[in-house]
Amino acid sequence: MSVIESEEHKALREAVASFAKNHPSTPAPDSRRFWQEAAKLGYIGVNLPEAYGGGGGGITELCLVLEEMGAAGNPLLMMIVSPAICGTVISRFGTEAQKREWLPALADGSRLMAFGITEPDAGSNSHRITTTARRDPDTGDWLLTGRKVFVSGVDIADATLIVGRTEDARTGSLKPCLFIVPRDTPGFGRRMIDMELNAAEKQFELVLDDVRLPADALVGGGPSHAFGSGGEDAGLLQLFAGLNPERIMTAAFAIGMGRFALSRAVEYARERTVWKAPIGAHQAIAHPLAQAHIELELARLMMQKAAYLYDAGDDVGAGEAANMAKYAAAEACVKAVDQAVHTLGGNGLTREFGLARLITAARVSRIAPVSREMILNYVSHQTLGLPKSY
Ligand SMILES: Cc1cc2nc3c(=O)[nH]c(=O)nc-3n(C[C@H](O)[C@H](O)[C@H](O)COP(=O)(O)OP(=O)(O)OC[C@H]3O[C@@H](n4cnc5c(N)ncnc54)[C@H](O)[C@@H]3O)c2cc1C
Repeated sequence: MSVIESEEHKALREAVASFAKNHPSTPAPDSRRFWQEAAKLGYIGVNLPEAYGGGGGGITELCLVLEEMGAAGNPLLMMIVSPAICGTVISRFGTEAQKREWLPALADGSRLMAFGITEPDAGSNSHRITTTARRDPDTGDWLLTGRKVFVSGVDIADATLIVGRTEDARTGSLKPCLFIVPRDTPGFGRRMIDMELNAAEKQFELVLDDVRLPADALVGGGPSHAFGSGGEDAGLLQLFAGLNPERIMTAAFAIGMGRFALSRAVEYARERTVWKAPIGAHQAIAHPLAQAHIELELARLMMQKAAYLYDAGDDVGAGEAANMAKYAAAEACVKAVDQAVHTLGGNGLTREFGLARLITAARVSRIAPVSREMILNYVSHQTLGLPKSY
């Protein structure tokens, strides 16, 4: 891995930046169009295999795309979910039929897939999820029952990848199984959550009430694959294959947003003059902006390391780096946004300058997909070998 970006990656970065700049905002109806245009240019499916219509790249390229979109003020949250989690899980573990059905459509932007793991009574503790799959002995169908919360984009996604567990795995360690649930399947109810977020992508509470799914809705195929001898942990591997890209992409989302806020603040600080020199000449304004820049750059280095390890097939090494990158990027983003708003004085809180809304948006990356505290727990236990309190 080189810490200096290749010419190819620089060119991709520039192309995405200029594309995203020409789409100044993405309110609900326009975000789908923006998505499809980005997909046509190969940006959305850049990480998916070429054999299935993707770009044949990795998470390295996908996170670069998302970061540049965010830096232009135009992040596409569903990139974290559709190509990064769902696309990766299906390409690595899906059956041939699932790959053919989903990957070309996820890559060309014609279909989207959401991802649901969080539950009201489990939250950060995903070992506690209770969404349960049982088999109808007569038909071989799966019947899925449970609740999910905060799932993004279920309304615009053609299907949601739902993390459940089988009936006999309800107790003990998590033995997940992943199901592709089409949006309009009977028994699959959704209610939009009234979030204090100004974004095109909405969050939903889901109720799965005996949702009947064909046997082939299970990612990777039949139960022998997921739970039989030898394949016992297939579901867990599938889940982790998706969670590392999710963390790396959330880092990209946060770094992009932080860069966007910082660039707005710097532009303002260069011009705004209320004494003799522009406010950016005061170190009380300049230094926190310089710090924000340094911290975003550092977070990006860790993100690139995590993406590199992931793309090289080192899932374990990528796990630690992805957690650290997500942590560093979220903290850098929250700080950059806070300082940007402050730099603009009263204008920082106007709609016109568009920074105040980022105060809430920046917090998302500190909470989701895994909170700051759970990453600190991970590093305390896994990296430092400290004992657990829970
Ligand atoms: C905008 C948005 C989009 C989202 N999109 C999706 C999605 O598409 N799909 C999906 O499945 N989920 C999604 N989520 C859910 C997200 O992943 C969860 O909110 C997150 O995992 C935290 O879970 P929780 O909200 O239940 O918090 P809780 O688990 O209740 O945690 C609350 C607080 O307690 C702290 N805490 C909990 N346990 C510990 C501990 N052991 N030690 C120290 N502190 C602890 C946490 O750090 C946090 O600060 C989204 C959330 C948001 C806000």
